[in-house]
Amino acid sequence: MKHYSSEKWADYSRGTTGKREASQMKRHLEAGCKKCRQASEMWFAVQKLAQKEASYKPPENAVRVAKSYFAASRLEDKPSVVTQIARLIFDSLRQPQLEGVRSASAAPRHYVYQAGSVLVDVWLERASSSIPLSLTGQVLEKSKASQVVMDMDVRLHMGDAEIASTKTNQFGEFHLEIPHSAGSDVQLTFGAEPRIAVLIPMGLIGDTPDTETY
Ligand SMILES: [Zn+2]
Repeated sequence: MKHYSSEKWADYSRGTTGKREASQMKRHLEAGCKKCRQASEMWFAVQKLAQKEASYKPPENAVRVAKSYFAASRLEDKPSVVTQIARLIFDSLRQPQLEGVRSASAAPRHYVYQAGSVLVDVWLERASSSIPLSLTGQVLEKSKASQVVMDMDVRLHMGDAEIASTKTNQFGEFHLEIPHSAGSDVQLTFGAEPRIAVLIPMGLIGDTPDTETY
């Protein structure tokens, strides 16, 4: 049986799949494929969250996104570096908080970005405010059978400056540290041309968690 990729289901959930393919995909779900059903449900959930988020806080979001895109466009200004900006498709802090969980600050923040068939997973963790932010991630290529992207250049940028770099390991994983002094303007870029740029919304990392009292 032919299955559909996660990327296909992401498009399907956004309603951007062509009519003909969409009806084929619908039939595939109706035929009872568990694997694709799961993928489809996951993407519909992500889509729902994204819409919810948009209706909750449009101004803050708009400002944050605009700022990030301006920062990334500076990377594009450099001649001979073609940059593709990855879309943020999942953000753990945008998930509904579990009952009784009041502080999100101790938990790692999880982002998923997509650029074409490349998915970038990013986990950010800060043990205390005085040490660098630990950034671990993984690069996956959905169109490859193994999905692993090894030996890919990963660069960390602050504003116009490159401040650290590494390569993905045999599992497509990488680790970097973001200095304590990093402001709101942090990007990762991957590979050569076209580079894939991932914008880290740092402004939200240090946010005071909800401290509701009853
Ligand atoms: Zn399937």
